[in-house]
Amino acid sequence: NVKKTMNVVCNLVEKKRPKVLIAGAGLAGLSCAKYLTDRGVEAVVVESRNVLGGKVAAWKDKEGDWYETGLHIFFGAYPNMLQLLRELNIYDRLQWKEHAMIFNNKASDTPSPGQNMSSYSKFVFPSIPAPLNGILAILFSDMLTWKEKLLFARGLIPAIFGGQDYIEDCDKYSWTEWLIRQNIPTRVNDEIFIAMSKALNFINPDEISAMVILTALNRFLRETYGSKMAFLDGNPPERLCRPIVDFIEANGGKVWMKHPLRRIETREDGTVESFVVGNAVGKAEQWRADAYVSALPVDILKMLLPLSWKSIEFFHQLSFLKGVPVINIHLWFDRKLTDVDHLLFSRSNLLSVYADMSNTCREYFDENKSMLELVFAPAAAYISKSDEDIVSVTMKELERLFPQHIGPNAQLPAKLIKYKVVKTPRSVYKTSPGLNSYRPSQVTPISNFFLAGDFTSQQYLASMEGAVLSGKLAAEAVVRYLESRPMDTMESTEVASNQLVIR
Ligand code: FAD
Repeated sequence: NVKKTMNVVCNLVEKKRPKVLIAGAGLAGLSCAKYLTDRGVEAVVVESRNVLGGKVAAWKDKEGDWYETGLHIFFGAYPNMLQLLRELNIYDRLQWKEHAMIFNNKASDTPSPGQNMSSYSKFVFPSIPAPLNGILAILFSDMLTWKEKLLFARGLIPAIFGGQDYIEDCDKYSWTEWLIRQNIPTRVNDEIFIAMSKALNFINPDEISAMVILTALNRFLRETYGSKMAFLDGNPPERLCRPIVDFIEANGGKVWMKHPLRRIETREDGTVESFVVGNAVGKAEQWRADAYVSALPVDILKMLLPLSWKSIEFFHQLSFLKGVPVINIHLWFDRKLTDVDHLLFSRSNLLSVYADMSNTCREYFDENKSMLELVFAPAAAYISKSDEDIVSVTMKELERLFPQHIGPNAQLPAKLIKYKVVKTPRSVYKTSPGLNSYRPSQVTPISNFFLAGDFTSQQYLASMEGAVLSGKLAAEAVVRYLESRPMDTMESTEVASNQLVIR
């Protein structure tokens, strides 16, 4: 009897919980569901694929090796991501590296006959407060002449002290234009910022908005550990996303895999009537809730917008945001190519950053063999090429990075055992100059419809941190909306709840 009464009480409590439907189980959708759960809301997530994580998704091949959508780095300047990890008790899954930025030396495209070893240049951040640690890192690096360093440090003053308004105002310039305006020598761009621009948005400095690089530099130079980097200790779906799902489901929510949002049904007043969702056998069902969130990538959201919303300026502006192509390459070798346990900026024409994951990531650790994970960018010219072609040009680039092991002059040749290429034709939105003002807020003109996603407006870039923060902001906006609604309008409740459970 006691058990029965408890069940009834639980059901009653359950009935009082407002329900929110979220489309997309990337970091934005999962973060939104997590923070709604914290506020006593029943969060239901529908995801089209059978893998969690969206742009951090990964898969296991038949030999048990993981391959990923992208090589992912966590920064000290990711307060919302780090807080989420702490809240889930998984902060110790981050493997922090030496506080440094390591660049492959550029030299020529082909190694000179005497060049047998890969050579690196480092910006090492000493353990003293910001911005002094960043300034010393620049001054003591061997990549620039003293004159270049001083001009560079002087030019960076507004990046350090300019504040958010200054940074946003610089969205009108490309990074190259901004450098010219600051009288920073072009060689600084060639030496450092081609690599940084490709790492941040997979495009070159003449294409990227100055705001993007200034945002990163501002965080890196103002926060003592802002640029310190960490790798996750294993594959992101299991080590990062699964604990978020477990949390949501342990608190009454649910994440439905292979349940794509197919259509958004609207009422006469334009508000959302239901999400039409494909079920496990491919049939469409109408799912109703008290509020709805899209945590879809912007390119997919645009395709699913109801016709009647398309003329609304807020939604029309999304047409300016377009995903940029990028390719993530995994190369397994029969021997060790490097013992560097860090991210490397390749400074190669075709590649962006890379890492030997057999050193940097516990789950991928191998004492005797290397697994290079490399970001291939800009990728527009290669995205439709075959995997073989892409690997072939990558191997050519690696002759310069690892002359001792790869190429005709290799003294200790390494054999490529296998490879995996993951193409993302539309990844994060391309941050061309002038687009920042088109990033939508999490609150939309449709009262019961909200947006999350790295492309939405928040002070972090299109990144994991941006995605997590956008989900948190969307959750806060949804809660405000639910709390403001009249008592008799709750979709999922018979007994209206005028108070959300606040834990
Ligand atoms: P997504 O991850 O795109 O999530 C959207 C979800 O919606 C996906 O799960 C998708 O399957 C799902 N979906 C799509 N259509 C439907 C539908 N019809 N119905 C239901 N679900 C649907 N960030 C960093 O911070 N550091 C890095 O080092 C870094 N490196 C990167 C490297 C690469 C190669 C790439 C591609 C990205 C990198 N990023 C990095 C960026 C980061 O991965 C993204 O900013 C972030 O993961 C985006 O999260 P999101 O939830 O906004 O979007």
